[in-house]
Amino acid sequence: MIIKSAVFVKSAVKPSQYPDYDFPEVAFAGRSNVGKSSLINRLLGRKKLVKTSATPGRTQTINFFLMNEGFSFADLPGYGYAKVPVAVKKKWGPMVESYLRTRAGLRAVVFILDIRRSPSHADHDLFAWLAHHDIPQILVLTKTDKLKRGEQAFQRVRIAEAFCLNPETLLLFSAVTGAGKQLLWKALEAVL
Ligand code: GDP
Repeated sequence: MIIKSAVFVKSAVKPSQYPDYDFPEVAFAGRSNVGKSSLINRLLGRKKLVKTSATPGRTQTINFFLMNEGFSFADLPGYGYAKVPVAVKKKWGPMVESYLRTRAGLRAVVFILDIRRSPSHADHDLFAWLAHHDIPQILVLTKTDKLKRGEQAFQRVRIAEAFCLNPETLLLFSAVTGAGKQLLWKALEAVL
């Protein structure tokens, strides 16, 4: 995929604020600090398009980006950060759920997991919710550069088992080295 343009469109917390275009859209989800911003920036070849916040999990908005004036990314707020105030945590579910339920252009969710960690309860909840609502998921294990090849393969099998998936369906990615970028684009192009 050649990215000719990539622009931040707007932040939103409710459907009336979403961009009113109907371009095909992919959403990105994962726990706070998983590497979601880094993944999107690496995918788009833009170092700082998606800002990484110093206090993870505090920015609870859905951020929309438009590429090549033809397809859209929605960056969903990260979840599971312990220090986020309870009031903010309570808003996450309804905000994300109304996005996932109402967004007509949504084609798939890129679900990002840290290859080194066992999936959390929140990860399982989101996975089950998406599956229940028949929203296609592209599972990505990121930060692979932190593990040796053998360890990567081991973790891929472990995490796949946790979701009852074939390990081959989990994409391996590193925002540091760019590993997996082409395969992820291939998966994205298939849904966009
Ligand atoms: P977000 O909160 O999910 O958006 O996560 P960020 O993209 O801000 O990344 C959180 C931290 O993980 C930062 O310190 C990043 O530099 C680091 N990080 C993100 N992706 C990778 C990766 O692929 N490899 C390594 N080694 N570090 C990463």
